[in-house]
Amino acid sequence: TSPIHVVGGGLAGSEAAWQIAQAGVPVILHEMRGVRGTDAHKTDGLAELVCSNSFRSDDATSNAVGVIHAEMRLAGSLIMACADKHQVPAGGALAVDRDGFSDAVSAAIDGHPLITVVREEVTGLPPKEWGLSVIATGPLTSPDLAESIRAETGEDALAFFDAIAPIIHRDSINMDVCWYQSRYDKVGPGGTGKDYINCPMDEAQYNAFIDALIAGDTVGFKEWEGTPYFDGCLPIEVMAERGRETLRHGPMKPMGLTNAHNPTVKAYAVVQLRQDNALGTLYNMVGFQTKLRYGAQSEIFKMIPGLENAEFARLGGLHRNTYINSPVLLDPSLQLKSRPGLRFAGQITGCEGYVESASIGLLAGRFAAADSKGEDVRLPPATTALGSLLNHITGGHLVSDEEPGKRSFQPMNINFGLFPELAPGSIVKPEGIKRFRGKDKTIMKRQLMAERALSDCRTWLDLA
Ligand code: FAD
Repeated sequence: TSPIHVVGGGLAGSEAAWQIAQAGVPVILHEMRGVRGTDAHKTDGLAELVCSNSFRSDDATSNAVGVIHAEMRLAGSLIMACADKHQVPAGGALAVDRDGFSDAVSAAIDGHPLITVVREEVTGLPPKEWGLSVIATGPLTSPDLAESIRAETGEDALAFFDAIAPIIHRDSINMDVCWYQSRYDKVGPGGTGKDYINCPMDEAQYNAFIDALIAGDTVGFKEWEGTPYFDGCLPIEVMAERGRETLRHGPMKPMGLTNAHNPTVKAYAVVQLRQDNALGTLYNMVGFQTKLRYGAQSEIFKMIPGLENAEFARLGGLHRNTYINSPVLLDPSLQLKSRPGLRFAGQITGCEGYVESASIGLLAGRFAAADSKGEDVRLPPATTALGSLLNHITGGHLVSDEEPGKRSFQPMNINFGLFPELAPGSIVKPEGIKRFRGKDKTIMKRQLMAERALSDCRTWLDLA
């Protein structure tokens, strides 16, 4: 059998190589560290954790990260096995001894009879004669390879510095205060004229909000992030500093919007939320890219009327992040549409985080191995955490109707907002319980989604 080439021995590439080899197919893993470093990695070890040592929640009963951990364990993940072996105490979270973890991944990969590790920088797209290949070079993909990917996929397809606005779970938005309406009731392609959720502010609320933004604690750029801001995506706190009225004439302008709860009173400013996923369970804050610290963001954004109890699927940030416009460029099994046989995996596909990157490596590895063996590529069900994340990457995004051509696809951690809704009537008040409040319903919803995911994952993997 010809070997499958995996480029990048990080979280995703190591897992992909392992899955391929465990399926009985030989692998050549190309990793540049040892020859060339990155701005964030400090060692030559495979699967180095560049920052925190946490794999986040390990609760598989009601936390989406815990669910993806559990699914990966069911699928024989090397990353999870090594993390479990090198766990350090961290409450309900799975945190690891980073050196022990990376050493264990390196030892397993180096010791696998079907894996050959080559220490070299791959400076262009894998040549066609390599056959089946996986690119898993991460957010810090070396410049020459990034340039080749950009040339193959189109000029705008690779983002280098990324401004991210917060994303909110729709069911945590107070619709007694907010209302659905597109500006000037504009009906775009596929739209209804009611595509946005609007949060109104009066003058006093606006002024208090601007004061809080200006006083807010921001995150300094790290050395490797040294970059000017992009045109057109200034952080909101920078806009606020430029003048008290700037936001009211920018992303918070109230024009063309009428408060459905209070039609006679014109809002002084409006925060708009735009649907972020095809399921309609997540909404992003339009124009709210920010580098405020996470704590400051949740505090300040909860000042916005209607968002008092907002739950964030992700907070905003401005950081370097190389990722491709996967929903447009990749097919459902992570193959580049223009180059079948060439797959992408890890953070470069537009997932975020160690676990998520490894999980997409796991899928890409399995899909490539199935191709190599002439077997059907079996996608994980959409109800699983693996399937939900895969769908986010390969298709679950929406393109904004107000800014045609501007992509709305943003890297995302796994969260229940990416999972399909439960069947109607699934959430019922348990007998013997007096009060069954919104919070209780949310907990039950998560538990049911987690159960469904693990059960469907077992079926997908042919486990009893
Ligand atoms: P990586 O783990 O980065 O692996 C990519 C590998 O490809 C690297 O080993 C690199 O050397 C190699 N490579 C690159 N180009 C080439 C080439 N041309 N040829 C050969 N090899 C190449 N996530 C979290 O969950 N928690 C955090 O605290 C966190 N902090 C982060 C801090 C920083 C500074 C950055 C940049 C990211 C952080 N992330 C964090 C996101 C994190 O990068 C990803 O979660 C994860 O490491 C991505 O996995 P990956 O396999 O896609 O990429």
